[in-house]
Amino acid sequence: MSTALLQLDWVDRFLQLPEAYYTRVRPEPLSAPRMVHFNTELAGQIGLSAADTQDPELLALLSGNASRPGDKAIATVYAGHQFGHFVPQLGDGRALLLGQLRNPQGDLFELQLKGAGRTPYSRFADGRAVLRSSIREYLCSEAMQALGIPTTRALALVASPDPVQRETLETAAVVCRVAPSFVRFGHFEYFFYLHQHERLAPLADHVIDGHFAHLAARPDKYAAWLGEIVERTARLMARWQTVGFCHGVMNTDNFSILGLTIDYGPYGFLDGFQSGHICNHSDEAGRYAYDQQPRIGYWNCSRLLQATLPLLHETPETAVEIAQGILARYPGAYADAVLEGWRAKLGLLDTRDGDRDLINAFLNILDRGANDFTRCFRGLAAVRCDATIAPPIRDEITDVAAFDAWLQDYRARLQAEDSDDPARAVRMNAVNPKYVLRNHLAQTAIELSEHGEDTEVDCLMQVLSRPFDEQPERERYAAPPPPQAAHIAVSCSS
Ligand code: AMP
Ligand code: MG
Repeated sequence: MSTALLQLDWVDRFLQLPEAYYTRVRPEPLSAPRMVHFNTELAGQIGLSAADTQDPELLALLSGNASRPGDKAIATVYAGHQFGHFVPQLGDGRALLLGQLRNPQGDLFELQLKGAGRTPYSRFADGRAVLRSSIREYLCSEAMQALGIPTTRALALVASPDPVQRETLETAAVVCRVAPSFVRFGHFEYFFYLHQHERLAPLADHVIDGHFAHLAARPDKYAAWLGEIVERTARLMARWQTVGFCHGVMNTDNFSILGLTIDYGPYGFLDGFQSGHICNHSDEAGRYAYDQQPRIGYWNCSRLLQATLPLLHETPETAVEIAQGILARYPGAYADAVLEGWRAKLGLLDTRDGDRDLINAFLNILDRGANDFTRCFRGLAAVRCDATIAPPIRDEITDVAAFDAWLQDYRARLQAEDSDDPARAVRMNAVNPKYVLRNHLAQTAIELSEHGEDTEVDCLMQVLSRPFDEQPERERYAAPPPPQAAHIAVSCSS
């Protein structure tokens, strides 16, 4: 194999760790692989030219039908709290780390194949991912990237006619995911609960040296590093809340040590706003409902701190005190980030006392009418300080009387800071997306690709790569879901 991908600067930092952290694996081949989509923009970032991406050998590598020389691929081991219950061993059950490379600018990228077959951590499952869930992961990770929300990314999506049994018989696919690191909270939990506490520091150093180099020389580097993770996680939750993103499975094994959105399964963007919305049909109790996400982010950080106590101090009581101090940074970091996010969505420049109430009042109006979250925020950009001009979005709001009353307060608030209508509209349109990956849009692309027609995946990639821009020829992608879309159910089955 001579594909340009193999000629890049592979540094494979994870292989420098002892084998207690992973197992070497080989991908299981797929028959008749077809490239559903290739992300040329991301390929360029990792150091591939447009010509390189035409190489047929690239498809073999990205489908798992060929391996890097020297058996470099690994599956890593982790544990995790799933729906609140500790599971002592999970791990990359259907993902393998192809390796880690450094681009000419010095940035690190890990490449992972998700769905490339069984590993020692597959437990009872088949190591595969179906085309349906792979398209959802591929599209959403790039949609989140374009929204400016920290996320793992996707380089390639390969499909195969090979059958995969879920509730119905589906077909297989492999997503090549890309991130600086795929280390999860659960990696640390694995060694903590196994009482292999001496394994925590090498893993923490691996993460710090690669991704938190500014902390590496500090005597309190572990506390400083955990503090950054807690704050990143809090800020990530604020980003999810203010864009209406529901993750669906916020288990600690699905939480990134870099504060990235990771593992797109039964996620969803809010259509009609309901604060208690549960996007995952497998989540009967609503543990991961939209309005629970910030609290769960905090709880997950507490699980990470529990698992890293031995890094903080040799005396357990002192370690707990330090951990509590670190965890205490979450509520403030979240509150600041989320308020800043909501204020930006309303186009406010100054900070005033009543801002939080103003935001909550608007959310309550949407909640009562299950009005479309994305469209209603986007529509606020058309509000004028002049009370005689009604914004067109008014027609979509169920409780018009409440909205009119709210508009009076909003306009008064805008006038209090001498808000300039056109300038505010520009600011608001840069933070309130017009286009998000609604479930029904993904579903249309899935159904077409299941019949071998991949153009809709490409079309969605293009629309969602510019979520804040008006794209007049693609107006229908900004519409609320059609009534027949109500049947779309997403669950843990993937
Ligand atoms: P998830 O719910 O997708 O985050 O997965 C939880 C755990 O189950 C992880 O260890 C996954 O690697 C593993 N897993 C999920 N689906 C499969 C599958 N089809 N084959 C093997 N392992 C899987
Ligand atoms: Mg997972």
